[in-house]
Amino acid sequence: MVEKRLVYLDNAATTPVKPEVLEAMMPYFTASYGNPSSLYTIGQNSKDAIRTAREQVAALIGAKENEVFFTGSGTESDNWAFIGSAMWRREKGKHVITTEFEHHALLHSAKYLEKEGFDVTYLPVDAEGIVRTEDLKNAIRSDTTVVSVMYANNEIGTLQPIAELCKIAREAGALFHTDAVQALGNVPLDVKKLGVDMMSMSSHKIYGPKGVGALYVRKGLALPNYMHGGGQESGRRAGTENLTGIVGFGKAAELAGQNLDAHIEKLRVLRDYFIEKVKSEIPDIRLNGSLESRLPGNVNITFKYIEGEAILLLLDMAGVAVSTGSACSSASLTPSHVLSAIGVPVEDIHGSIRFTLGDFTTKEDLDYAADMLKAAVEKLRKISSLSG
Ligand code: PLP
Repeated sequence: MVEKRLVYLDNAATTPVKPEVLEAMMPYFTASYGNPSSLYTIGQNSKDAIRTAREQVAALIGAKENEVFFTGSGTESDNWAFIGSAMWRREKGKHVITTEFEHHALLHSAKYLEKEGFDVTYLPVDAEGIVRTEDLKNAIRSDTTVVSVMYANNEIGTLQPIAELCKIAREAGALFHTDAVQALGNVPLDVKKLGVDMMSMSSHKIYGPKGVGALYVRKGLALPNYMHGGGQESGRRAGTENLTGIVGFGKAAELAGQNLDAHIEKLRVLRDYFIEKVKSEIPDIRLNGSLESRLPGNVNITFKYIEGEAILLLLDMAGVAVSTGSACSSASLTPSHVLSAIGVPVEDIHGSIRFTLGDFTTKEDLDYAADMLKAAVEKLRKISSLSG
């Protein structure tokens, strides 16, 4: 009898807060709780702590400190960047471009813009889960004001040719935004080399606390303010800062930068080990999305003839946490728009599972998860009317 363990393989949904991050946050709940806008010492201490965090996040993406603005989430950063720049530049044109497989934070922002009278082009992705530069070249028009393409997809982990896409957009006079929520801390990012105008980030995907994000806004870009009120975030996003959250995000970003190469290598080796193991032990499966151009910790597999929800529940009973799509859509039964976009047939989409590895994942965890997975798939296929 195998002993039950807890194996968390849903790091793309969220990550645990690292002990060092929590430790950095603690003083700002109780001892140093001053409002960063207050002029006395404990207020100024808080202001200093936010400055440090801003430097830490900026350092991770090659930005200047005054180009990073803290927000309440990656979702907020996406809304601000995409809706904010489309509205701002609507006199120039009402055409914007994004892709079919963005996170809902971006897709639903695009739908909102459609309701406001904007014309939105949704670029397709190829069968490997990559946006083709040719498609952007063909779609871009003289009235296109902003293009948004995610850096790494949250379901299949595929990485996009952001520098090339950005160049095409910028040459045509459009702004370029990328949602780097899944990429941050998992691939090297340098906003200057990429050339992007705006980039979204989120703390809870990199072992920081939930409810805090950031938007990189290139210096000189007069993106309109998101919240109106006090002078926080240089007046661009008013509201008393989430001090502890921001401090935690900063610390998490610092740690991510220090460990980046080792983190990537560790995850890549474990990911490939897991894929090979599952492939060799379970028949009738397919890996969704390119293996070459992929986040180091993402595995997305279709198990033919059975339901992903049923696999998820059996794995959960065995202590293994996985996801059937993005966390936000896993409560609904509509097939994943990401897997549809890469051409996975509907019946296969229903049998797809996302496993996302993180800093705390071990080989033993993966061995256990693979054993539990094999047992679950065999059990479900025995009772499935779809399997031969
Ligand atoms: N963009 C992507 C690609 C994501 O994966 C997520 C979260 O899953 C978000 C945006 C939203 O980030 P947040 O949870 O901080 O709102």
